[in-house]
Amino acid sequence: MKYIVVTGGVMSGLGKGITMASIGRILKNHGYKIVPIKIDPYINIDAGTMNPYQHGEVYVLADGAEVDLDLGHYERFMDVDLRREHNITTGVVYSAVIERERKGEYLGQTVQIIPHVTNEIKARIRGVAEKSGADICLVEIGGTVGDIESMPFLEAVRQMKLEEHENDFLFVHVTLVPFTTMREQKTKPTQHSVKALRELGLQPDIIVCRGKEALKEDVKEKIAMFCNVSPEAVISAPDTEDIYEVPLLLEREGIFFYIMERMQLEQSKEDPAWGKMVERRKKSASGDKLIRIAIVGKYAELEDSYLSIKEAIKHAATELECRVDTKWIEAEDLEEEKEIGSFFDDVHGILVPGGFGVRGAEGKIKSIEYARENKIPFLGLCFGFQLAVIEAARNVAGLKDANSSELCETPHPVIDLLEEQREVVEKGGTMRLGDYEVFVRRDTLAERIYRENKIVERHRHRYEVNPAYIEQIEREGVIFSGTDRSGTRMEILEISPDMHPFFLATQFHPEFRSRPNKPSPPFKAFLEGCMQKH
Ligand code: GLN
Repeated sequence: MKYIVVTGGVMSGLGKGITMASIGRILKNHGYKIVPIKIDPYINIDAGTMNPYQHGEVYVLADGAEVDLDLGHYERFMDVDLRREHNITTGVVYSAVIERERKGEYLGQTVQIIPHVTNEIKARIRGVAEKSGADICLVEIGGTVGDIESMPFLEAVRQMKLEEHENDFLFVHVTLVPFTTMREQKTKPTQHSVKALRELGLQPDIIVCRGKEALKEDVKEKIAMFCNVSPEAVISAPDTEDIYEVPLLLEREGIFFYIMERMQLEQSKEDPAWGKMVERRKKSASGDKLIRIAIVGKYAELEDSYLSIKEAIKHAATELECRVDTKWIEAEDLEEEKEIGSFFDDVHGILVPGGFGVRGAEGKIKSIEYARENKIPFLGLCFGFQLAVIEAARNVAGLKDANSSELCETPHPVIDLLEEQREVVEKGGTMRLGDYEVFVRRDTLAERIYRENKIVERHRHRYEVNPAYIEQIEREGVIFSGTDRSGTRMEILEISPDMHPFFLATQFHPEFRSRPNKPSPPFKAFLEGCMQKH
């Protein structure tokens, strides 16, 4: 097994996750089987309880793990399906160690960070790597070098390097090269962060330098000399318009060649599909087909909380060769307004994403009503689906007080907890999470979109359509066109294409399975609907 470990310095938010995802993509393009692991040094067991304001969206894996959004980048770039064990947090490591201690498995020893915690980390990394059958395991250590939290992880990989064969272990360090007002590229922050690494016994093999512009040759040389690497190992990674271009940029900088030599990989033919996809993206970005869609959300000011939705839109737009402009609308701003038309008069479609809690919910419902009545293409996701059900119950089925029991007490809880879900919550579980099968009704818009009657999509929700109201809600072209296997959980709501140009909402989150070369069917169909509205 070969390992590439990616660390970061200077500051967070440099694009370490994209760098690692891109290295994975490059290796995959060259025919290597890869497996990524993300280490998050926070003490939370997983990202499920974390505020998207602080960390961006919570990404959901097939097995229901709620993880850092970088795992979304890995899945999209590397086209792999990851599981819980691909995300190692301090919380997971310590709770395993403490559990073992309670069981007496350390046989009276004093349990310490070195070797017990570090051994646990190493065993987890190696376990995932070996089980995957991959050629190369990529490990990203979250946070920045020097953080107290990341110390045990850096120590663990330091030991691993000694234990593995020389050619099988490589360190990549991602840093920032800022500009001065005189437009001079400054290497000091990089030097300092490499120095901090070296104090911990880690010498980077490759340094990826982020910055506004490409590194000048003399700056590269300076970094090479001060940081003890060869100039070819200093890789310039300037800002790009399109993150999917990063693998191509890094490749052009010679990163694969360097890794290949250093790890003694074989030169192999490169799969051109990724490059072609990026070309298509460029073409659509400069084309004249422009769609504007409104996303009515709660965290509209922090777009990272809807990262996978943004990416899924991009994937669909690439395939349809159009440009998409998103207009972020804060749902609460719609609540006071009588006339909300002015918010939407310049858009071709309205998307209401997932969410929790009462703030902004009525504003979202208003925008769904507006989309339904004015025949504007509409896509609702998870909470957006539930609110579309409420809207239909209120304004089509005439249940004026229809609401969700998540939001308030109501005589008509059309969205409610199912008995089964209550049991899950009582047992300490919180949500229905991860991949579940969805059964698509024949002769529906949903069937036309998916071209299948059994699909798999990812979930993250607690509440469900209350089965007692299904019959009442299904009228005037409104139908549930997808359910779970038993037919009790409603998964897709649509309005018949005879009555509305495009109106679809899903209880699941299709955005989590969208890939740059394989757009999610509902997103693609939604954009197609918007193009017709054009
Ligand atoms: N709040 C809703 C629920 O818990 C929807 C969740 C979501 O949009 N992810 O069911």
